[in-house]
Amino acid sequence: MEQQAKDIARLAAEGCARVEIAKRLSITETQVTRVATEHGIRTRNMVDLATPAETLTRMAVQASSHLADDIDVQAAVIGLEPEYVADLMHELRTGEAELRKLRQRLDALQGGEPARACPVCGKSVTGRSDAVYCSTACRVNAHRARNH
Ligand SMILES: [Zn+2]
Repeated sequence: MEQQAKDIARLAAEGCARVEIAKRLSITETQVTRVATEHGIRTRNMVDLATPAETLTRMAVQASSHLADDIDVQAAVIGLEPEYVADLMHELRTGEAELRKLRQRLDALQGGEPARACPVCGKSVTGRSDAVYCSTACRVNAHRARNH
């Protein structure tokens, strides 16, 4: 077995997820998957690991480690199609909104606030303490339903 496959097998046995193995060996996740498949090594996705709390922690650590301050954004953006950058901005905005919701839910749990359920879809409501619906979409749907 080649050295890379041995390293992957060792890290997988230690409980590392594919994304961590890729990072430690400085290769892509796709490479990890390819080599693991060729050698019949079982590797796991991050979400397969342990408890939800552990998965959350790993996700947060991973996300922050990818957002290193020393990324030269200007240099990175040169050569990208404007449409691609626009898509990326959209993804980032969505990600920010989702992260904020996640943080607010964690905040609410920490503070022992009871979770409120959205009367339209049943998801937990976060944000302002007087918010009734989980999202603009649900607020609009409720409004439409009322006016029919
Ligand atoms: Zn809702």
